[in-house]
Amino acid sequence: MSLTVGVLAIQGDVHENITSTETALKELGIEGTVVGVKTTKEISKLDGLIIPGGESTTIGQLSLVNSSLKMIKEKTEHGMPVFGICAGMIMLSKTANDRVVGKTDQPLLDLLDIKLERNSFGRQKESFEANISMSAIDIPKFNGVFIRAPSVSDVGSGVEVLATFNEKIIAVKKGNLLGVSFHPELTKDVSLHKYFIKLIKNSKN
Ligand code: GLN
Repeated sequence: MSLTVGVLAIQGDVHENITSTETALKELGIEGTVVGVKTTKEISKLDGLIIPGGESTTIGQLSLVNSSLKMIKEKTEHGMPVFGICAGMIMLSKTANDRVVGKTDQPLLDLLDIKLERNSFGRQKESFEANISMSAIDIPKFNGVFIRAPSVSDVGSGVEVLATFNEKIIAVKKGNLLGVSFHPELTKDVSLHKYFIKLIKNSKN
């Protein structure tokens, strides 16, 4: 069985995620292809999807135009695993407020019962790296790269908190949905991408 993993290719860290996912598949010895996707037709063929970091307002508005947002929602509600990274985690959320400008009327998928605070750690120039730990998924040490990163300000029932930093929630999971505030694709460590591939594989069994 070969897996088809998509990276939503509207805006943001698309190529970096394709590379990390290809490396992760190789290291796991799992057969699969990784594709950048934009259209509903492309999304309909996926076994799993990564929504990359970038700018959530842009990703949301542009994926609304060609109905890809609707297709992602449908597929996910039928069990497709989704890994939301930074802006991608914002896309998965129910509501998002910007720390500076407050509520923005941006399109969201409303798939994961979490509230988000956008730009929770400051602006681009306040980017930083920090050691974080996700012991619950056997990743005790990970270098988190935070760039205009969001944090999760509230979680609904059944949402597991995987990591916090400075008392802010920065990684969550519920069922086949995974969301992180930081950018694993900007490091050489593919353990989170490997974990996501295993989620996809298990969802197919
Ligand atoms: N602050 C961005 C947003 O709100 C996310 C930043 C990122 O993905 N690195 O969409």
